[in-house]
Amino acid sequence: MQSMNETNPKQESLNPYEIVKEQIDIAANILQLPKNIIEILKRPKRVLTVNYPVKLDDGTIEVFEGYRSQHNDALGPLKGGIRFHPDVTLDEVKALSMWMTFKCGVVGLPYGGGKGGVIADPRNYSLAERERMSRGFMEAIADFVGPDKDIPAPDVYTNAQVMGWMMDTYSKLKGTYSPGVITGKPLSIGGSLGRSEATARGCVITIKEALKELNMPIKHATIAIQGFGNAGRVAARLLSDLGCKVVAISDSRGGIYHSTGLDIGAAIECKSTGCVTDYASPEKYITSEELLELDVDVLIPAAMENVITSSNARRVKAKIIAEAANGPCTPEADRVLNDKGTLIIPDVLGNAGGVTVSYFEWVQNLSHFYWTEKEVNDRLYEKMITAYEEVRSIADKYSVDRRTAAFMVSMLKIAEAMEDRGWV
Ligand code: NAD
Repeated sequence: MQSMNETNPKQESLNPYEIVKEQIDIAANILQLPKNIIEILKRPKRVLTVNYPVKLDDGTIEVFEGYRSQHNDALGPLKGGIRFHPDVTLDEVKALSMWMTFKCGVVGLPYGGGKGGVIADPRNYSLAERERMSRGFMEAIADFVGPDKDIPAPDVYTNAQVMGWMMDTYSKLKGTYSPGVITGKPLSIGGSLGRSEATARGCVITIKEALKELNMPIKHATIAIQGFGNAGRVAARLLSDLGCKVVAISDSRGGIYHSTGLDIGAAIECKSTGCVTDYASPEKYITSEELLELDVDVLIPAAMENVITSSNARRVKAKIIAEAANGPCTPEADRVLNDKGTLIIPDVLGNAGGVTVSYFEWVQNLSHFYWTEKEVNDRLYEKMITAYEEVRSIADKYSVDRRTAAFMVSMLKIAEAMEDRGWV
């Protein structure tokens, strides 16, 4: 029999800002936090909207709309990526900045959450246009960011090169070389070893812990990954190196499946010049939605928000869902999956490796002293394991799911900082 929500999925809010507020309420109520603390946590402190002109190659001008949301800086400067995507909305950017606050809290970083977004599909523009689009956005937000204020990073459809252009624009505007204003930069201008792999590496650390917890061997564990960008592609490679069978992957154009495991090296080759469906002779082609419902040990959503909702949660068969993407499961989906006993590694933990190594990059920039890749990876491992254990122990103590536990771990730290600063 279908549930009410399954027959009438319209009742479910897919607005990420509403979703994060609900997640805050759930955790704050268990902790019995004072109302004024909850009210502060449920709103970004500052939100900037910009409209900026970019000259296109044919001489015409296009005006782009973008946002920077700064949620809560009780624990330190704000930190969070910049996304270029046609579906960016102000509410999405606000929600993403709030998830960043809780993510930084979970892994114990001295940061609050920020996030930026520009409504644009960079795939439709030339390299030169993308450079002007990137520099233009940094020019528009330059007074709101800074190494001790708000430190952006890459996110969907932005990368190290975009960060390099933005750092250069900021440095020129301020008249001082400022690598600490942004992370995820190329190595030659203050990037950190290990940063490009960090989100996936952190996610894989949590997957290994979850498999151990469920007494499931890592070798031959079956994996499906939705999204084959920075997070998904690297996770596929690391897991296949560990002996897992990555049976399905997808990108925005569709997906592929092979029951004995895909050749990830070959898939990465295909993606570097086109899309994953260019892969030679998979067992079958699948849609990105079908991928979510495969009978696998671990499902990794590594693309966009709201892909698992009340409409499909019942059909998701994975034993572990490791959220590399931000916000892939709605609260309704969470309820269904938790009832089924699915172990969800929530985004604020599962993809926290990225911001953790961004923090290491910033520390290196401020101290002008650079670490080896082993130092970066060892410190990342330590942070991820500590956070995983902390979340697990709160989940056990209060008999709550891991997302609620992760929010609780974080909220306690933020609430203490707000109290110590005299905000409440
Ligand atoms: P990316 O731009 O490198 O890759 C995004 C991938 O998703 C691409 O392969 C694209 O084809 C695919 N995609 C887009 N729409 C899709 C759809 N409907 N179905 C299947 N695939 C689709 O982005 P990324 O940096 O890998 O980010 C992916 C997710 O991970 C986002 O939610 C992001 O917020 C999150 N994240 C990224 C980082 C990071 O360091 N890059 C850190 C934390 C969280």
